[in-house]
Amino acid sequence: LFVEHPLAEEQQVTLSREQAHYLFGVMRLTTGAQVALFNGQDGEYRAEVVEAGKRGGTLVCRDRIAPQSMPPDLWLMFAPIKKARTDFIVEKSVELGARRILPIQTEFTNSERIRQDRLQAHATEAAEQCGATFVPEVTELHRLDRLLADWPEGRQLMFCDEAQAGAHARLPDTDAPWAILIGPEGGFSDAERARLHALPYAHAVALGPRILRADTAAVAALTLWQTTLGDWR
Ligand code: SAM
Repeated sequence: LFVEHPLAEEQQVTLSREQAHYLFGVMRLTTGAQVALFNGQDGEYRAEVVEAGKRGGTLVCRDRIAPQSMPPDLWLMFAPIKKARTDFIVEKSVELGARRILPIQTEFTNSERIRQDRLQAHATEAAEQCGATFVPEVTELHRLDRLLADWPEGRQLMFCDEAQAGAHARLPDTDAPWAILIGPEGGFSDAERARLHALPYAHAVALGPRILRADTAAVAALTLWQTTLGDWR
């Protein structure tokens, strides 16, 4: 369970109403039950339920069962699509080890609004489900042009471009931080594509000879990056 609370041996953790509902209402845990807790900083702790109520509860951390681990410094940038597919991208980005998830607005972005809190909750659930000890931040919607104008020094960009189909992925072997960029269902505009190709830190890659849907492209790109440069090397 993810908690926004410092964790250490014998540390007491107070649960929110939603967390109490989940543990005691849905999971039917009672006093004495063991729960694994993480907060994104202190690793994972085995904690014991010492107080179980309808609107709240208290756990006490016993021992640390896993050290804190961080995914590589990889951003996943994508243009939000339909709700269920956007949720899918967030979930898979967490499972496949992105450190930060940035919804971006491009010229052809299908959806101009996102529910950041909902997407962040999805990221938290995905981290809980896959045993991660870190929850990536899902940022607010960024405009692609502004993000590129203010690009962090040194960060490399893997620009997924279906127009490269047939070409091999060429990613320089570097320990620099990276970002993956996936376009919207309608793809990038000619102007965006030209700008992206001209950036010295951008590397255009193909994800095979067919046009993938944006959610498939996100999974394929994360997998490709992790196998070539990331923590599956
Ligand atoms: N512009 C295209 C069209 O309308 O024919 C489709 C865009 S595709 C559905 C959505 C995004 O997925 C693209 O902008 C690109 O970033 C990525 N993508 C899909 N297939 C790809 C491939 N074979 N190689 C690299 N990127 C791909």
